Amino acid sequence: MFYNQTIDEVKKALDADLKNGLNDEQVALRQKQYGMNQIEEGKKKSLLLRFLLQFKDALTIILILSAIISIVVDPQEWIDSAIIVFVVIVNAVLGIVQENNAQKSLDALKKMASPQAKVIRHGNTVSIPASQVVPGDVLVVEAGDCIASDARIIEAFNLKVDESALTGESVPVDKTNQPLTGEYPLAERNNMLYASCYVTYGRATAIVTAIGIDNEVGKIASLLQEAKEQNTPLQDKLDQIGKAIGVMCIVICIIVFGMELLSGMSFLDAFKTAVALAVAAIPEGLATVVTVVLALSVQKMAKKNAIIRSLPAVETLGSTSIVCSDKTGTLTQNKMTVVKVYRDGKNIEPIETCSENSYQLLNYFTLCSDGTISQIGEKEVAVGDPTETALVKASLNKGFTKKNLMAQYPRFDELAFDSDRKMMSVFVEDHGRYLQITKGGPDVIFDRCVNLNLDKVNEINEKMSQEALRVLALAIRYYDEKPENVTSAENETDMTFLGMVGMIDPPREEVKEAVAEAKKAGVRTIMITGDHIVTARAIAKALGILEDGQKAIMGDELSQMSDEQLFEHIEEYSVYARVAPEHKVRIVKAWKEKGKVVAMTGDGVNDSPALKAADIGCAMGITGSDVAKGAASMILTDDNFTTIIHSIREGRGIYDNIQKDVQFLLSSNIGEVLTIFGASLLSLILPGSFASPLLPIHLLWVNLITDSLPAFALGMGKTEADVMERPPRDKNEGFFAHGLALTILWQGIMIGGVTLIAFFIGNQISYPVGMTMAFITLCGSQLVHSFNVKSHHSILNKSLFDNVYLWGSLAAGLFLQIIIITIPELSDIFKLERLYLAQWLICVGLSLSTVIVCEIVKLIYKKTGNR
Ligand code: ATP
Repeated sequence: MFYNQTIDEVKKALDADLKNGLNDEQVALRQKQYGMNQIEEGKKKSLLLRFLLQFKDALTIILILSAIISIVVDPQEWIDSAIIVFVVIVNAVLGIVQENNAQKSLDALKKMASPQAKVIRHGNTVSIPASQVVPGDVLVVEAGDCIASDARIIEAFNLKVDESALTGESVPVDKTNQPLTGEYPLAERNNMLYASCYVTYGRATAIVTAIGIDNEVGKIASLLQEAKEQNTPLQDKLDQIGKAIGVMCIVICIIVFGMELLSGMSFLDAFKTAVALAVAAIPEGLATVVTVVLALSVQKMAKKNAIIRSLPAVETLGSTSIVCSDKTGTLTQNKMTVVKVYRDGKNIEPIETCSENSYQLLNYFTLCSDGTISQIGEKEVAVGDPTETALVKASLNKGFTKKNLMAQYPRFDELAFDSDRKMMSVFVEDHGRYLQITKGGPDVIFDRCVNLNLDKVNEINEKMSQEALRVLALAIRYYDEKPENVTSAENETDMTFLGMVGMIDPPREEVKEAVAEAKKAGVRTIMITGDHIVTARAIAKALGILEDGQKAIMGDELSQMSDEQLFEHIEEYSVYARVAPEHKVRIVKAWKEKGKVVAMTGDGVNDSPALKAADIGCAMGITGSDVAKGAASMILTDDNFTTIIHSIREGRGIYDNIQKDVQFLLSSNIGEVLTIFGASLLSLILPGSFASPLLPIHLLWVNLITDSLPAFALGMGKTEADVMERPPRDKNEGFFAHGLALTILWQGIMIGGVTLIAFFIGNQISYPVGMTMAFITLCGSQLVHSFNVKSHHSILNKSLFDNVYLWGSLAAGLFLQIIIITIPELSDIFKLERLYLAQWLICVGLSLSTVIVCEIVKLIYKKTGNR
């Protein structure tokens, strides 16, 4: 057992090199021998099985039954049955293609979100995909990391690991590097790291002992089962709506069936009409369309740097009204550069021209950092927090490498940085004495120093902060005896202040515009930062986040406020400075209580409660810890605030598109039902005057071509230009708010109406001509109607041509329509007549008249200020 072995024994057993790690050859050899560090996913369903599953819903079964009944009762009419079977198969194939597309985009996303691991290879710490870790690798982990594979700890500093995923124990476990004697259960092997667990504090290096399926987590079968993909609330709602409408349609079908029997139609014809009507009218495609639109949109968003981890987030994005953003890296570039140095008692110096006496201060900063800069080939590669690598770089520029400094001052202990303390310490040997170096936010360091000219240092800190610089202070403490079991309370006190550095971190250029766009869209941006209030205020002003009449507040003041006070005053604050992660949760809760939908960014280990509490938790893809990513519903792969605003825009667009899809599908379905129902009703009133205007195959055709194609195209439509000019959608607002239900109804009546008019005109000449004209008008008006639905603006605007799919569906629909009418063999099957030009023109005119009606209504809406 590795946990019983000493470090040397483990090293030998796994042929590991602690200093240099493995080389490429060793890695290749081991990958060949042990495979990759991943668990193969369960077997996918076969194509045949997925094809068969397409036939499981009740409607398809009704259709197939009706085909069988038709052929049994009237074998000569086999063509009808053949067409039904054809339609069913085409539907199944389309279903599989759509499912495949959706699945592919979700799989691709999963890959993008897959974790990285830090290992030592060729003597350098490098970040690689976790799947490439091999046994014998030297793994480097720190707070926030998800552990890539099982490993035996070689060196641990204040290490705590959350092993709840594996052992169920919710309190993080302290870890050491000491061998254990005897046998221990998993939860007590405190010198081992286990894959899939999170480091919550400290850091460690460890030798990888197992990978992939051999990891402890690989042995737990239940964890391997993929979490079930959940429906989004919208999908559930539409499912319910679809079902309710379905039941209504079936009732109507039964009534139509009865009426047709009464009006003298044969049992078989009446039955076939009723079944076809059911198929054409029931909006069984609603939920599927939404799923496909969501999946494809999520793929689109991933290309624009937002990886959605949970589908419901896409819907929530559209109603987001508050975005709480970290400063460093999100609003700013996180490209830190030390620009100013201040030695105690001296003046602030620019780094380029600082005196040699300041070098020691810079070197202390470097010693007290975990960042590294290595020369790999021609390239300088920085690994670690930009704040830290900036310090290492500052020393490097003066000719001091961190490696040499560390050799001169070997580190023997440390107190890791965390956002609560806002400082960190290292303990090094200094030529026979023991030196503690502590760096952190100036105010927290000042509090723990002795013999300090507080007024002076505060003034210097203020001065640098006003220039929007991030300021770090440094203090030291000497010990004659080697300190053991160091703690913050005992050791980070009674220190001697040495100086400060100021670093510039320029704001991201595009952020100012994004903040302004958000504001126009009714979305307020709030800055939450661990940085000093003066620095935060300077940057917030520059970005347009802090406006006249709004305030900045410190974490300390926030702590003094009760939840009720915070709730009362929350709207006044746009900037929160020197906050600790738990403040973020309070801010989110207060805003949520105000009824707002809140997006919150986070990167650190302690940010996950806030990310979970927010409606949209956004984790940083580059600097974010694995813990934060695990808790978030969205990952920003570029760590950029602008991406959140783009995603809100995208989220609004997607919701719009889904609404348009539902509007189109339902109004078309209502149109179809009304055509048949209306004609049956009329034939009851005026017996013999009206036969059914459409045959079952016509309805099936409409279902396949003029319903599905435009619906898919509408779902793929571009986001309308003005989505960010309206306020966010109210989260309690129903799907059919703003009169959508009424719109669907009158548009359905319109489509049914023009179809019946066409039938009525044609029927004056003959029944087949009436039927042909009704069929052409129904198809034509639906194809045209998709353009009405495309935008709530007049269709005659410049975005008319921006949805190529819609034009494609129109072209395909017209082409197929013309083919079945002009090719005699096909028109025989569809029982269509050849029409004269005048009759064609009537059909075209009636189809286009829907545009005129919709344009008039849009104009009225515009004039009355409605949408
Ligand atoms: P944001 O929350 O906007 O990302 P931040 O990066 O400043 O801001 P933290 O990382 O929590 O937030 O840092 C809080 C403060 O701690 C910083 O303002 C700085 O004063 C100090 N600090 C940051 N990084 C280090 C570090 N590596 N070592 C010591 N002190 C640090």
